[in-house]
Amino acid sequence: MIHIKTPAEIEEYGQAGSLSKAALRLAGSLVRPGISTREIDSAVEGFIRLHGGTPAFKGYGGFPGSVCSSINEEIVHGIPSPTIFLNEGDIITFDTGATVAGWVGDNAWTFYVGEVSAEVRGLCEVTRDCLEAGIEQAVPGNHLGDIGHAVQHLAESHGYGVVREYVGHGVGRTMHEDPNVPNFGKRGRGVKLQVGMIIAIEPMITLGTYKNHVLPNGWTVVTDDGLQSAHYENTIAITEDGPQILTQDDEGPWCPMQGGE
Ligand code: MG
Repeated sequence: MIHIKTPAEIEEYGQAGSLSKAALRLAGSLVRPGISTREIDSAVEGFIRLHGGTPAFKGYGGFPGSVCSSINEEIVHGIPSPTIFLNEGDIITFDTGATVAGWVGDNAWTFYVGEVSAEVRGLCEVTRDCLEAGIEQAVPGNHLGDIGHAVQHLAESHGYGVVREYVGHGVGRTMHEDPNVPNFGKRGRGVKLQVGMIIAIEPMITLGTYKNHVLPNGWTVVTDDGLQSAHYENTIAITEDGPQILTQDDEGPWCPMQGGE
């Protein structure tokens, strides 16, 4: 069942969206070679709590961290660890959210760790552009397939893979609501977008194959070929005036690509 939100509810949601973006921005600012993913996770958790939120991911389905931290070939759900350190040339995706006043924020960004190869930077830039292309389609009267098609078309035109098993989603008082928001699809197909829907759009795009598997830890999803994967996510409301990005703080809805800034 799709929960349609009133304008007042969308405005209320904004606090969760804003804190979620600030938390993501903080995670990115801490990126440097040699730091552990646990150190970043702890800092983000402290920041969210300090600002009156609770980390939405902590304990979700038993997830042990406040931030999913997925390095290189890890697509989603990397577990922060005191023994996993960032290395020069890595890419790191943080997916994090804050719950504020009962609303759950959700956003993700892939950052560069130091100097990253041109090939991998290209993947990240196109994936970020895929998110933008998807958001542009999130207007009343369009369909979910228009979002998926825009993402898929752009990614595949660059020869990249589009992950199928993990998708965007409705979001609100719980992290995952109907509908699913796939990163592939056909124009004009799927659920019709209506004013008052809040959805997280989150392309997960791979340098090589989009085929993937879950590591023995039961969480972390990696590409089958070990090549890099990028992931950008914003939560938006469908409004009469078009898509309104709710995961934005004072600096806006986007983060720098370069970590440590
Ligand atoms: Mg999400």
